[in-house]
Amino acid sequence: MEALIAGGGVAGAAAACLLGPRVTLIEREAEAHHKICGEFISHEAQSYLARLGIDPLTLGAAPINAVRLVHGDRAACAALRFRGLSLSRRALDEAMLAQAGQAGAGLLRGHAIRSASPAGLEADGLGRLAAPAVFLATGKHDLRGARRQPSRAAENLVGLKMYLVLHPAQRAELAGHVEVLLFRGGYAGLQLVEGSVANLCLLIDRARFKAAGGTWPGVRCYLEQDCPHLTRRLAGAAETLDRPVSIFRVPYGHLHAPGPADWPGLFRLGDQMGVIPSFCGDGISIALHSAFAAVAAHRASDAWAYHARMRRDLKGQIDRAGWFYRAGRARPGLAVVAARAWPGALRWIARLTRVPPWAMADL
Ligand SMILES: Cc1cc2nc3c(=O)[nH]c(=O)nc-3n(C[C@H](O)[C@H](O)[C@H](O)COP(=O)(O)OP(=O)(O)OC[C@H]3O[C@@H](n4cnc5c(N)ncnc54)[C@H](O)[C@@H]3O)c2cc1C
Repeated sequence: MEALIAGGGVAGAAAACLLGPRVTLIEREAEAHHKICGEFISHEAQSYLARLGIDPLTLGAAPINAVRLVHGDRAACAALRFRGLSLSRRALDEAMLAQAGQAGAGLLRGHAIRSASPAGLEADGLGRLAAPAVFLATGKHDLRGARRQPSRAAENLVGLKMYLVLHPAQRAELAGHVEVLLFRGGYAGLQLVEGSVANLCLLIDRARFKAAGGTWPGVRCYLEQDCPHLTRRLAGAAETLDRPVSIFRVPYGHLHAPGPADWPGLFRLGDQMGVIPSFCGDGISIALHSAFAAVAAHRASDAWAYHARMRRDLKGQIDRAGWFYRAGRARPGLAVVAARAWPGALRWIARLTRVPPWAMADL
């Protein structure tokens, strides 16, 4: 076996599709599961998925043609330069793992990896597995022995995702749009996924979360008080999950620089390599880009060159996204006023926060 892949999200599954029978992928979840994600699939992500033989439309993805930025009751809307798609990660990641299995990759599901070292991966129920290369694709979760050294301190944010069946009139108004809702203490994304169900995915300061009672009903009540637009959208909506999917402390802006914890055969993919503020909806394409680049570099056994390349490819995009993210959070009202005055602004921001075409050209 040439390589082990730790984690079966988009990054790990993409690498497994590309390497087929030469790899074994270890994923801690035994079955398809929900993940915290706005589930927007950008144009760049779609082109990588197509190369893997995955067509989100055949999986029921909803098309997204416009973005609507909302603060309070004010909104600015702009058409996207490309057609985005929206598909639950449960469906997308599962389709990718099935594709990897068809390509001949070994899939070991239901085994949590406990640690990583040059000697291999230590996983529940499997003991130690070793291979010349390890693709570390455990997303937000660090492994003992190979923890990320965040280049920025993680903000104290709580992430929550809930699916809702909206009232038909609200569903019709939302169709074709991704809505980015700015509120005091955070922001949310709202869009339809397959089956015309709405995904409400948000990040909120931990202090506000606690002030809202530290519960989902408390947060929903707080959001609806702060954002009349959302109150309208959610009127009469039925939640479809027993409780929201959650996450804490995402290290936005992180860009991995190899350090003493890295060894020559270790390739970091996806969120292990770089974390872009989620409002951009480009984390999936970064994960896919990293998988394609790591597989190419792995053929030359050059993890150092791979990490250096990824830093070059992603730095501008992640830095710019961080700047827009901080500006939007500091002056949400002004962000909407500016976007209304200059309708091209949202398209311009979208362009500046994508994996750049020059970075994808040789893969
Ligand atoms: C709130 C929020 C909203 C977002 N919205 C969007 C969006 O709309 N569009 C977009 O493109 N990006 C979005 N992102 C970013 C995107 O979700 C990530 O960048 C992307 O999922 C990274 O893919 P990955 O494969 O690196 O990690 P993941 O998708 O997180 O996959 C990691 C996998 O590793 C497995 N794993 C973890 N630990 C272990 C272990 N110890 N042993 C074995 N397996 C393990 C997990 O079960 C999981 O399957 C968002 C992120 C957040 C936080």
